[in-house]
Amino acid sequence: MHINCCPCISGEMDSGDRSDLISPTTSSPPSHIVTIPFPGRGHINPMLSLCLLLSPKTLTVTIIVTEEWLNIINSDHPSPSLPSNLQIRSIPNVLPSERTRGSNYTEFFNSVMSKMADPVQRVLDELNPPVDVVIGDALLPWVAGICEKRNVSAVSLWTESASSFYALYKFDQLDAAGGLPEDFSGVEELTYLQDVSSTHIAGLLPNATTLDLLRAMSRDYYWFHTAHSVLTTSFDNLESSAMTKIRSDFSIPIYPIGPLIPHRLPPSPPPSPYLQWLDSQPESSVLYVSLGSFLSISDSQLEEIAMGLMESKVKFLWVLRDKPLCVDEDTGLVLPWCHQLRVLCHSSVGGFLTHCGWNSTLEAVFAGVPMITYPLFWDQQPNSKLVVEDWGIGVRLKEYHGEEIVRKELVVKKVRKLMDLGDEESKGMRERAARLKEMCGEALGVGGSSQQNLDDFLKQFISRKV
Ligand code: UDP
Repeated sequence: MHINCCPCISGEMDSGDRSDLISPTTSSPPSHIVTIPFPGRGHINPMLSLCLLLSPKTLTVTIIVTEEWLNIINSDHPSPSLPSNLQIRSIPNVLPSERTRGSNYTEFFNSVMSKMADPVQRVLDELNPPVDVVIGDALLPWVAGICEKRNVSAVSLWTESASSFYALYKFDQLDAAGGLPEDFSGVEELTYLQDVSSTHIAGLLPNATTLDLLRAMSRDYYWFHTAHSVLTTSFDNLESSAMTKIRSDFSIPIYPIGPLIPHRLPPSPPPSPYLQWLDSQPESSVLYVSLGSFLSISDSQLEEIAMGLMESKVKFLWVLRDKPLCVDEDTGLVLPWCHQLRVLCHSSVGGFLTHCGWNSTLEAVFAGVPMITYPLFWDQQPNSKLVVEDWGIGVRLKEYHGEEIVRKELVVKKVRKLMDLGDEESKGMRERAARLKEMCGEALGVGGSSQQNLDDFLKQFISRKV
């Protein structure tokens, strides 16, 4: 098995044990942190990674998920791989299934807003020891009310980029001051985050030209303004200007503790055919293709991408959740699901065609893999800008949100260029990706910024408690 040399995988990372911060000699009972993720893969994964960081012996950590997610987590982490002081509690399946989330996202989202809070409260009522702190996803506004009622600290977990956070924060301020045009058409040219990042507020708008959606998101849904503190899944040096601005402008403490990805992989993965197939491929020769855990593209777009991949003659490993596609092993592999981080960290993988979900972006940064970007929704377009413009570790396949079809000729061109190890631009991207990977390892390592920020967060929480 050829796994790229990631420090965590070879066991050099800090164990994450924070028991030094919570003295076992204190007379107070063990502290109890309850985490409540938004019920989607891109939110559950980072929250679970956070729980694993927060589970030293003297701390009890509980994560509350739906029954459906309990089953998914149990199958991803067969016991006893989760620590004993991390308990998973479930609420009934009051939401449409994860399998259909993407096909009617509005219905799913509205159910999360209206149906989850009551059963979560019932679980909280039964917890022993009682909860001291709740860490809730930044997209679960009802968490703030639950915490207020119980008089416990409310922490918001931000699972998008720091640049998107700052864009939303700036949006609020400008909007409140009446400083935004009502019509956003053509606003792509306006850079509200000058000197911070290439992110635009307009870039957060999926296919809309007015401010209504952003207003609704920022006023009714994101609740980080009212949290006691904010944890983010990014790390300090990845978006340093945005982090510096947020920290100086925002009155609530903010702790970048990422990347919050499942990087503590066991050194020997269970054998699986796709990892064996990767083992048989030359170094950096395979393009990994995935457009995330729930969004889909049209059949005609799928066909253009498939034809482009095949014509490029670059071997690919493609996660296509619900569409069967037959290709022979000399061309590539198509799977319904894979362990993405393992795939990205495999030495045969040399590029990632991605929808730029924030977790996927962080995982590619961690693995040092350059990207071809194909954003579909919400923060994915600004993430694509970060990858291409700010970090210089990728090329665009698709410019903006929207329905335009990317033709197979463009797919062939971009794929060949990125995967050509002799191409000067591609070499530059690889070098910058390798540097970001190093910075990521430093942030996660002993004494690194993410470790220190987590320590600072825990100290703040302990001082609140006593
Ligand atoms: N993922 C995975 N296997 C797959 C496809 C996706 O493990 O075959 C994981 C991926 O590693 C990431 C998450 O699903 O952690 C997707 O989150 P992201 O924020 O990238 O995108 P979303 O699915 O929320 O749009």
